[in-house]
Amino acid sequence: MTFEIICKDYGYECEFIAKGEDGEYVTKLFGKHVDDEHGIWYSDESLKQMFQNKYNKK
Ligand SMILES: [Zn+2]
Repeated sequence: MTFEIICKDYGYECEFIAKGEDGEYVTKLFGKHVDDEHGIWYSDESLKQMFQNKYNKK
């Protein structure tokens, strides 16, 4: 399946969507995006949490 983390869902005025078939890749992509574009750094743990909250999956 394809996973998506949508930047807008986390309160940013932004059209970015991290998308891919590998959950780990998608969380990393999103983490890099918010860091680069919004100057916010999320720990790997927080990113994992976001992903799990959305997909209820480890
Ligand atoms: Zn964004």
